[in-house]
Amino acid sequence: MKLLIMGRPGAGKGTQAVNIKEYFNIPHISTGDMFRAAIKNQTKLGMLAKSYMDQGALVPDEVTIGIVEERLLEADCKDGFLLDGFPRTIAQAEALDKFLNENGIKLDAVLDVNVPVEILVRRMVGRRVCKGCGATYHVEFNAPKVEGVCDNCNTQLIQRADDTEATAVNRLQVYDNQTAPLLEFYSKQNILKTVNGDQSLSKVFEDIKVVLGA
Ligand code: ADP
Ligand code: AMP
Repeated sequence: MKLLIMGRPGAGKGTQAVNIKEYFNIPHISTGDMFRAAIKNQTKLGMLAKSYMDQGALVPDEVTIGIVEERLLEADCKDGFLLDGFPRTIAQAEALDKFLNENGIKLDAVLDVNVPVEILVRRMVGRRVCKGCGATYHVEFNAPKVEGVCDNCNTQLIQRADDTEATAVNRLQVYDNQTAPLLEFYSKQNILKTVNGDQSLSKVFEDIKVVLGA
């Protein structure tokens, strides 16, 4: 299964990616996670990415495209992958198309997790992530058993630096300006599958399996 998952920031892409990855046994490639790992490791890429991410802006295309192409050439992507958070601009989508064509790879589907914009700031501001395993929670909608502690590995949960209200609002605007046009791009290729992301976590995953015919 070769998939992209799209949707506004906070729509639930990362949350559903965990289920999709397990179900299809494919690697989950999140550009946001790759940048956060680079920041944690204090690499040059991390420092560059941080300067954009802290504002809720996009990291430049040439940097982002490069790291994704490199990752897709790794052996574990041969039989399938789930790209999450990429592409986010028309230039990224065109570069990805070119890369896939040159490497004889065909996408099976582009999932669009659709959530009304009004509820997304609350989803982002309430998001908590595990410092250890990266699991995602929400203080109201998907709370851990013990407040502030990961159910899986007992590690402390933290709030992402870009999950402040002001940055969340910016990211939603960036999505509308730069990423929303991609829905039309993939709709024209007849591979866009939209699911309603404003439902329980388990119902969203059930709907994803239905649209993928799984
Ligand atoms: P994205 O990867 O699209 O930015 P996440 O998967 O990190 O989004 O989800 C954003 C926040 O919303 C997280 O705190 C997550 O626990 C919560 N969330 C995800 N899906 C749902 C849902 N269906 N209903 C309520 N909250 C959700
Ligand atoms: P995410 O984890 O998908 O919410 O992404 C967090 C932040 O990482 C975004 O707000 C961007 O600053 C950056 N980012 C992630 N993916 C991309 C991408 N494909 N292009 C540019 N910037 C990205």
